[in-house]
Amino acid sequence: MDKLKYFFAIFFLFVSLVSTVALGRPLPRKSVPLSADLLIVGGTVVTMGEDRRVIDNGAVAIKGGKIVAVGKRVEIAKQYRAKETINATGKAVIPGLINTHTHVPMSLFRGIADDLDLQEWLTKYIFPAEAKNVDEPFVRAGTRLGLAEMIRGGTTTYCDMYYFEDAIADETKKAGMRGVLGETIIDFPVPDNKTWEAGLAYTERFIKKWRNDPLIVPAVAPHAPYTVSQDHLLQARDLSNRLKAPLVFHLAEANTETEFIQQKYQGMRPIEFVEKIGFFNDRTITAHVIQANEAELDLLKKHDVGVGHCPQSNMKLAAGVAPVPMMLKKGMRVGLGTDGAASNNDLSMWEEMDTAAKLHKLNSGDPKALSAEQAFAMATIGGANALHMEKTIGSIEAGKLADIVIVDLDSLNQTPLYNIYSHLVYATKANDVRTVIINGRVVMLNRRLLTLNESAIKRDANAYRTKIIKSLSK
Ligand SMILES: [Zn+2]
Repeated sequence: MDKLKYFFAIFFLFVSLVSTVALGRPLPRKSVPLSADLLIVGGTVVTMGEDRRVIDNGAVAIKGGKIVAVGKRVEIAKQYRAKETINATGKAVIPGLINTHTHVPMSLFRGIADDLDLQEWLTKYIFPAEAKNVDEPFVRAGTRLGLAEMIRGGTTTYCDMYYFEDAIADETKKAGMRGVLGETIIDFPVPDNKTWEAGLAYTERFIKKWRNDPLIVPAVAPHAPYTVSQDHLLQARDLSNRLKAPLVFHLAEANTETEFIQQKYQGMRPIEFVEKIGFFNDRTITAHVIQANEAELDLLKKHDVGVGHCPQSNMKLAAGVAPVPMMLKKGMRVGLGTDGAASNNDLSMWEEMDTAAKLHKLNSGDPKALSAEQAFAMATIGGANALHMEKTIGSIEAGKLADIVIVDLDSLNQTPLYNIYSHLVYATKANDVRTVIINGRVVMLNRRLLTLNESAIKRDANAYRTKIIKSLSK
């Protein structure tokens, strides 16, 4: 046996020597393929990288929760072998959508009261319904409902502010979803914390518990300038600075807010006021920013503040139109958000893209005011910018976290296809999302949720409906 091995070794050496001499180079050796956990092959890869590369018949290799290679299918297939392969031929492969503003448990209040002005809606319906129903089990059930809806619609990261946010983080992690999550702190008693101090202490514990988690980014979330005093706003900012946590905040949402702040703080408008007191840091993420003139946008830009634009919620409550085209012109960090499902009434980022593109055309009288490509960017890399996470998410590029969505392109509402951005923004619906990958893990495959039990979620939500109706009739 040993002799035989020896013979073959000598023979191989001889052959390679001869071939080297004869051909001037060693025998070609088969290159060893690199290993990946998951390959997505085929389909149109819409990268949303800076060069906006769109790759027909592309491929993406994923390893250890990260994207390791993106390119043409022929190249990637040659270089990589993976345990699992998903064929995306005929589909779009896009960065996971980023919802920059939600109150996810409010999904259980979807449609509880519509077509009212903000004050009546809040004081007659939302506040009483919250006071009578919101506890930890409610928050968990509502979060699971919202997560299932978001994953089904291709959202892979969301930025939330509500109560019992620790339970929201727990449900989010279990579902394999990525979240920037902030406990809402406010100057009046809420379901979990009865004082400002208790809310602030809860937030500190919450952040320390979750800050090293691969999916959860815990945040400080003072509610708004009209519901949190000047001192408390600064305390929230200090906590954000000390723990290096994002600072999530509603800002400049309504006329009534502007009037209130002007009366309370010597005529200053909301953005002017919070800037003057030194509230902004470079981790600030705001929602709405409707009541903003050009000088105020410059202040937001100066402090690198992120903005979550929520067109459908703003339209439904007739709150006004945020100056988004101007924000984009200034190169600000702007993403899209749905807001809570009680004021929308869904968590579909597809509808937000479509609405944003159309709202700003109508509002400006200029059909070029916001293009399909710009709207799609706001739902992906722009959302990552708004959350200050553009280095890790928002595009399909090597080195980024593997948050990827595969979308059908052949449903009736999508046929025929001419331009991929127009198609994604104006024709595609949440139902067209087929497969969702978050942090390299497949959480929905061929429309089947793998981390959430859809029938149990619906059963729980319907049980809460009965309970909520009863609580409001008392
Ligand atoms: Zn909100």
